[in-house]
Amino acid sequence: MLLDLILPPRCGGCRKLGSWLCDRCRSRIRRLEEPLCRRCGVEVASTRNECGCRARLTSLTRLRSAVAYEGPIEVAVHRFKYQGWRRLAEPLALLLAERLVVEGVAAQTVVAVPLHPSRMRQRGFNQAELLAGELRKRLFLAAPAGVLVRTRSTPPQVGHDRRWRLENVRGAFEWRGSPLDGESILLIDDVATTGATLDACASALRSAGSGPVTGVSVARVNV
Ligand SMILES: [Zn+2]
Ligand SMILES: [Zn+2]
Repeated sequence: MLLDLILPPRCGGCRKLGSWLCDRCRSRIRRLEEPLCRRCGVEVASTRNECGCRARLTSLTRLRSAVAYEGPIEVAVHRFKYQGWRRLAEPLALLLAERLVVEGVAAQTVVAVPLHPSRMRQRGFNQAELLAGELRKRLFLAAPAGVLVRTRSTPPQVGHDRRWRLENVRGAFEWRGSPLDGESILLIDDVATTGATLDACASALRSAGSGPVTGVSVARVNV
């Protein structure tokens, strides 16, 4: 984008000039702390317990998020997604990459949660795809031999309970491309809450023959 070339970097958290995420905002980012649910990565009270997600997240092998969706990250993700600050893809993907290294998560392919074409036209870009692109660069992975598509437009998940969210996105995604042939996949989104959208995507990837699908998001909403 031409504007990016002209404008100097400005912090996605506080708008301070100099970098896309300033030191002060970085220091205020809260990383998720152990114990985490072994399966869906949400902060839980005890390591012995999974959070109860097994019954509803049936297609994801696991889900991991880098940081809490609060403070400067909430502001930065909002600017990234809704105000077109595309350059924030790099610092946000970096947070994610750091978490993946800590967790020892690896996969053969990186796939982004898709937007419906109508939303894509409105926004002009898919924020998850920008993050996936940055991760592919960092992890030296090729783009997949196909695309995950959203086959129907779904109302936003925000403000609804788990059950509604699951129903809303069930069967809304489809893999178009070569069969996935047992490939392990990292499935990327910017923010995860219950994991319903990621699980619906994972279901489509599994149907297309993928191996394990690990959902990963930059930020996690605590529900
Ligand atoms: Zn800042
Ligand atoms: Zn869980």
